[in-house]
Amino acid sequence: MAQHKYLLNEDQMPTQWYNIVPDLPEPPPPALHPGTHEPAGPDDFAPLFPMDLIMQEVTQESYIDIPEEVQDIYKIWRPSPLFRATRLEQLLDTPAKIFYKYEGVSPAGSHKPNTSVPQAYYNAKAGVRKLTTETGAGQWGSSLAFACAQFGLECEVWQVAASYALKPYRKAMMEVWGATVHPSPSELTEFGRSLLAENPDHPGSLGIAISEAVAEAAPHDDVRYALGSVLNHVLMHQTIIGEEALLQMEMAGETPDVLVGCTGGGSNFGGLSFPFLREKMKGNMNPTIRCVEPAACPSLTQGEYRYDFGDSAGMTPLMKMHTLGHNFVPDPIHAGGLRYHGMSPLVSHIYELGLVEAESIGQTECFTGALQFAKTEGIIPAPEPTHAIAAAIREANRAKETGEETVILTALCGHGHLDLASYEAFLSGEMVDHELSTADIEAAMAEVPAVRSAH
Ligand SMILES: *Cc1c(COP(=O)(O)O)cnc(C)c1O
Repeated sequence: MAQHKYLLNEDQMPTQWYNIVPDLPEPPPPALHPGTHEPAGPDDFAPLFPMDLIMQEVTQESYIDIPEEVQDIYKIWRPSPLFRATRLEQLLDTPAKIFYKYEGVSPAGSHKPNTSVPQAYYNAKAGVRKLTTETGAGQWGSSLAFACAQFGLECEVWQVAASYALKPYRKAMMEVWGATVHPSPSELTEFGRSLLAENPDHPGSLGIAISEAVAEAAPHDDVRYALGSVLNHVLMHQTIIGEEALLQMEMAGETPDVLVGCTGGGSNFGGLSFPFLREKMKGNMNPTIRCVEPAACPSLTQGEYRYDFGDSAGMTPLMKMHTLGHNFVPDPIHAGGLRYHGMSPLVSHIYELGLVEAESIGQTECFTGALQFAKTEGIIPAPEPTHAIAAAIREANRAKETGEETVILTALCGHGHLDLASYEAFLSGEMVDHELSTADIEAAMAEVPAVRSAH
């Protein structure tokens, strides 16, 4: 009988995060100051982040020690399990072996606490009183609310309006952990008020919610902002996923031929894949590594690789990334955590270097796969990793055609217990695949600043 899960003891939990930057054949382009377009220095980030995190953002060290206080909180749910999806394999009648690393065991139900906990830790250490943030699906807001509760910090969250209306229990969860939650756009910021004046029913977007959270943090000395994805330090905190998975795949006696992960801002994908990419670059294994994004928000496969703002109001430093334009408002698909106009600069750079591939999948194929997964494996996936599951199923079907025993590894980065409205929409036949409007992308791209420089 095949073994179903591979578990590590607490004392086997990795004690360092991995920074892939020094191992890359070329360094990623620097972030630029939004006004001067010169490379941004630590001081440009200081109104938003504490210095420890700014230093992690630009570090050339390959490994960073995980502080003991953070390790201690990680152990509430880490090490997380690696499963072999034997029942799904049987349903698909495939010779492929499908493994998934499950991050839904965290208190918030996703991988996000892997970074919210260290971010809250470094902010608390720097004397910060309150953290502000945005949330799309509600996973990041609840993860940060949980982490702030651990360190006695206040937490104020702008939740994308479409999700605020659809997911009242995410709001309740954040409030249980002591956070204050506003729908975004809100009347609390100038940018929010301007958008509501144009459209009182504005569905919001992650880019807009980021602008509102940044507007509250930047002017106050004791308030800082926390981002749940996209930035280098966030992806680095998530590498604990891949470091554990390396040990667990070794326990299973397998090395992956294909690694697929869903990408919104790139953090769960980077977290799982970067330690495997390190081993690939060292010649120890040779997996194909692929990003999977929603067809309705395909920043890697259809966005342009150029400098753009991280937020809609244009307040953040400029980052070179695959972008659909900072004003692009994606269709309100159910995978709210993947509705971001840009891709992590680091994942974008690695994609440009040809070290990873990308594909996009529509939401109905994703939910079809999610039902197959839920009925066999039991766990109901969050809407975001249904993309990873659909991609794994595509691979398993290819393996069936070729007869190869492909070893597939993916991240099941969250459960869908608070996303059941999306399953209801799918089951009742109300879910549609949104056609991507190229006119909307072109309009949004026209407002991306031209950066004249060698960067
Ligand atoms: C936030 C979130 C995502 C998208 O963010 P990434 O940085 O791309 O990982 C995906 N899945 C879940 C469950 C999330 O909470």
